[in-house]
Amino acid sequence: NGGTVRTRHVGVFAFPFASHPTHLLNVVRRLAAAAPTVVFSFFSTERTNRALFTKRGCDNILRYDVSDGIPEGYVLQGKIHEDINYFLGVAKEEFRSGVQVAEKDVGMKMSCLVSDAFLWFSADLAKELSIPWVALRTGGARSLSTHLYTDLIREKYSELKGSIGPNDEIANLIPGVESIRLSDLPIGVIFGDLDSPFASMMHKMGRNLTRATTVAINSFQELDPDVTKNLSSLFNNFLNIGPSNLVSKHNSPSKPDEFSCISWLDNQNPGSVAYISFGTKFCPPPHELVAIAEALESTKTPFLWSINKDSQTHLPLGFVERTTANGSGKVVPWAPQVQVLDHIATGVFVTHGGWNSVLESIGSGVPMICRPLIGDQPINTWMVERVWGIGVWIEGGKFTKHGTCCALEQVLSVDASSKGMKERIGALKDLAHKAVGPNGSSTQNFKTLVDVITR
Ligand code: UDP
Repeated sequence: NGGTVRTRHVGVFAFPFASHPTHLLNVVRRLAAAAPTVVFSFFSTERTNRALFTKRGCDNILRYDVSDGIPEGYVLQGKIHEDINYFLGVAKEEFRSGVQVAEKDVGMKMSCLVSDAFLWFSADLAKELSIPWVALRTGGARSLSTHLYTDLIREKYSELKGSIGPNDEIANLIPGVESIRLSDLPIGVIFGDLDSPFASMMHKMGRNLTRATTVAINSFQELDPDVTKNLSSLFNNFLNIGPSNLVSKHNSPSKPDEFSCISWLDNQNPGSVAYISFGTKFCPPPHELVAIAEALESTKTPFLWSINKDSQTHLPLGFVERTTANGSGKVVPWAPQVQVLDHIATGVFVTHGGWNSVLESIGSGVPMICRPLIGDQPINTWMVERVWGIGVWIEGGKFTKHGTCCALEQVLSVDASSKGMKERIGALKDLAHKAVGPNGSSTQNFKTLVDVITR
């Protein structure tokens, strides 16, 4: 270790799906830079660690692989959450034995456990080790509240049953959340299979988070002051430490701009381009991809579309060739999203409403067209459209050619509604940048987090 004195050993447990491990490692990199004498043992699956630890890491972050729980020779059937369920079947034991290995390697007992908030059983492991547990939540404060109040929501729902429909707005169901629609609650709160391993994990997360020494989230408190106030009264120590994408020094894109998105954007008019991406794990069904493609061509909207190779096969015949040849569009399997959103040419973000995507759009002041697919995406979209007024929910909840044309025209036009959206997201952008500035709230909160893990 180059002779550095190691004062503390912190274990870090990742939830190895979607963008979770990337964002957890980004926080750990910031912590590792701020606390160079602390050694971090970072646990995730081999597959995710391989993708995460491509460049030379910090000396004080050690990589440990844990099993993904998938039986030898078994090929995943593509069922929802199948991979997650296998992982959850082995996770606690894998992490428990991993701690022993890391403690032996480092020659030091762990003094603190940091984990993805999803991994609620870290509370038990931390207790066994008699050390504090710090839970890091990659999502926003509102969606976190829905899991915290799952028991209360279920209770109230059973009282109200019959008198309300899933699409009715309900006021004051959750403290700090003025209104919500039941249909926007994450699956597993009151709808769907409440006993599935995933739903049970979220429920237990909600029940166990008050055991954490600190709960930190990737958001900024000015975005959601009422919810922050409520969560601060429930948790021992609640810290908004984001938006992480604005703390760019330790958050450079894990993959470079290998498809030359930025130079393509350089040749487009300011505010004209629709950037389309549905995150790292999900994609709307094929007929909706066709509807988007048709709407882009019919409205002549320049576009940059990040979509994986498999899903590209569902685009209409000749679409990619035509739009590439006439220069109106670019289809890539991966884009440096933060830089794309920051580019002056980008006028709208067509997104699934994943939390990181929403925060990144806010950080760049780009209004959104949202098509939520799963999890916290509907509640994030509700916030975007109804609370913050910085984007629209795609008409009818799914892409049709007509609905997509209308949404593109609405957000990209220069009329009053679009102007209002841009002004509101511009104001939030300023608050986000202030929060991570020299005396900003997130900067202060991050310092507190460093104190917690070095204590
Ligand atoms: N992302 C990216 N380029 C792409 C697609 C996604 O950089 O082409 C990044 C994006 O910037 C964000 C993350 O992947 O940080 C997606 O996170 P989000 O929470 O929005 O969705 P998830 O992948 O978890 O569903």
